[in-house]
Amino acid sequence: MKKKEISEKFIGMKGNNFISKFYTKKIKKSFQSSVKTIFNNKYFWEIRLDNGENIQAKSIILTCPFPQLKKIAGKYLEKKISNLKINMEPNITTMLAFKNQRTVPVSSIKFNDDILTWAANENSKNRFNSSNSLWTLQSSIGWARKNINHYKKSNKAENILVSKFLNLTGYKKNKIIFKKTHGWKYSYNLNGSPLKSYWNKKLRLGLCADWFIGPKVENAWLSAKDLAKKIK
Ligand SMILES: Cc1cc2nc3c(=O)[nH]c(=O)nc-3n(C[C@H](O)[C@H](O)[C@H](O)COP(=O)(O)OP(=O)(O)OC[C@H]3O[C@@H](n4cnc5c(N)ncnc54)[C@H](O)[C@@H]3O)c2cc1C
Repeated sequence: MKKKEISEKFIGMKGNNFISKFYTKKIKKSFQSSVKTIFNNKYFWEIRLDNGENIQAKSIILTCPFPQLKKIAGKYLEKKISNLKINMEPNITTMLAFKNQRTVPVSSIKFNDDILTWAANENSKNRFNSSNSLWTLQSSIGWARKNINHYKKSNKAENILVSKFLNLTGYKKNKIIFKKTHGWKYSYNLNGSPLKSYWNKKLRLGLCADWFIGPKVENAWLSAKDLAKKIK
């Protein structure tokens, strides 16, 4: 096994969205409904949510993945945005908890495997104390592409991912006390784009998201910073 020596890591102490929660503490938020349509009536934006609610706004900033952006805002996008070649790749992830397994002194393991490519050791993040061994498994992109549309219909995909982890690590199946699988259809854009963000001053429409720059959370941060600079 090759050990990666770079040791600097940033970990949201109370979860991956801790930074966003911290910075939006004083802002009124609503999370429970998705945006169905947006309409610019020349004076302001009208935003229709899937619960039927309508919101009026002077400006709008969209951060959703590229395919969802085109769906919601398609008619307001300039060609330089709508013609971007953005390939959002899927990802299937399984969270696992084992009882009575020995702890390992690594934060994650990369596997050279067609199905399972990465496993994060959640205990190493020191977010909370747990006597169980907690792992998050991430599938390869190629395997996720084949399974993303039907992984919810049965446990087959989950079982394959878990068996891979057990075979590669020697962890015992009968020690599993919890497992849960999630899928993201548009999780990563590995290649970025020629832009960092987008601001249409006339429409007061802003776009920022990780996919402008790359696949990581810092790319989302950099894109948002770039948009903030443009708006100012
Ligand atoms: C399984 C997994 C593990 C990851 N692990 C890491 C990691 O360890 N380190 C790292 O740096 N990065 C990691 N990433 C990447 C990181 O999560 C992203 O880079 C980051 O979340 C991107 O932020 P964003 O704000 O651009 O987009 P997102 O976080 O994707 O936010 C976009 C939001 O838009 C919402 N949305 C979409 N359509 C609508 C609609 N119609 N109405 C309302 N809302 C809508 C979505 O629900 C979503 O909440 C991981 C990603 C995945 C999928």
